[in-house]
Amino acid sequence: MKIMSVNAGSSSLKFSLFEMDTKEVIISGLFERIGIEGGKYTLKYRGDKIIQEIPLDNHVKAVEILLDKLIALEVIGSLNEIEGIGHRVVSGGEKYQKSVLITDSVIEDLIELKDFAPLHNPAHVAAMKAFREVLPEVPMVAVFDTSFHQTMDEISYLYPVPYEWYTKYGVRKYGAHGTSHRYVSKTISEKLHNDHLKIISCHIGNGGSITAICDGKCVDTSMGFTPLAGIMMGTRSGDIDPSIIPYVMEKEGIDAQEAIDALNKKSGLLGLSQYSSDMRDIVDGVNEGKENCLRALNKYVQTIIDYIARYYVRLGGCDVICFTAGVGENSSPVRAKVLEGLACLGIVMDLDQNNNTHGTFAKISADSSKVDVYVVPTDEELMIAQDTIDLIR
Ligand code: ADP
Repeated sequence: MKIMSVNAGSSSLKFSLFEMDTKEVIISGLFERIGIEGGKYTLKYRGDKIIQEIPLDNHVKAVEILLDKLIALEVIGSLNEIEGIGHRVVSGGEKYQKSVLITDSVIEDLIELKDFAPLHNPAHVAAMKAFREVLPEVPMVAVFDTSFHQTMDEISYLYPVPYEWYTKYGVRKYGAHGTSHRYVSKTISEKLHNDHLKIISCHIGNGGSITAICDGKCVDTSMGFTPLAGIMMGTRSGDIDPSIIPYVMEKEGIDAQEAIDALNKKSGLLGLSQYSSDMRDIVDGVNEGKENCLRALNKYVQTIIDYIARYYVRLGGCDVICFTAGVGENSSPVRAKVLEGLACLGIVMDLDQNNNTHGTFAKISADSSKVDVYVVPTDEELMIAQDTIDLIR
């Protein structure tokens, strides 16, 4: 059974086609610069990379080319072989607590929710409509980044602001990376044969969030109303005092949008180091004795330690800490610094195991550790495909 997982942006469309019997990706690819000059696609198939520049007027055009290529490369014999399509959706607001089959009313809701994801939700809708135009008979499923976090209670999701901001305008914590945290929680529960774990899941990539999970359900998460909140990230500030915003607006003569842009795009590792948003560059810089990189790394690590400590208390202790995403899966120095900062909780790292783990599932804590620590490579695409198959069945 073949299922396609789709992640569409306003000018891009990423996809993976899964053979669900083996859970293997048969082909994956990226269509870029849709609707702007310089359209191009990249396909990864049987170890080869196929790159072609081609005008992509809109998402429909991209979908048509994609499906033609699947036939031309003989990945599938006919389009009927694609039995379902799962779409990643950034915001499902409060309404969508689980993945759903896509209907007209779901599409209308996503358009209505665009205030919560102005760049993403309209793009998801464009991609859904494009697939529906080209493959009208194939069932489609929406998988929301926010839905895993809908189990938070109001103590976790409310902000201490005038309550009517929540009731009138939906100002609350929604969180993000939910599909990844759900995948990590499910994977570790299956590996340890235990559905009743207290897990702290650390998704640390370019964006990053930490989630407290109990019995497979989200208790709290570090991202907030938007993905700007929480831990320090590659270019995002994470939590700051909001009074900084009007203060800097006045000093720099910028408007609110420019201030928020600076917090989203010029802060985090990039902002503090004035050097790079990429953790590899920062760690190299630290090894070369660059103080700006050390400053950025130390602050980054501290915000992660602070959130893990907060959630350790929130959960009343913790069975497993998981690291995932670009930095979490690959950067042993970052994991080591975080775990060293948690030593007072009785957490003991297995130094060799940590140093030797890059992008693979592994336990990196010592047997004497009070909390088990694992690296769990995330797979949001597979989770989307799995939800799709579950719903269309
Ligand atoms: P995104 O949030 O965009 O999905 P990823 O999860 O792919 O990001 O993570 C990207 C980040 O992971 C990069 O910016 C880089 O800092 C970091 N990263 C990737 N590989 C390594 C590595 N080998 N060592 C350290 N950091 C890495």
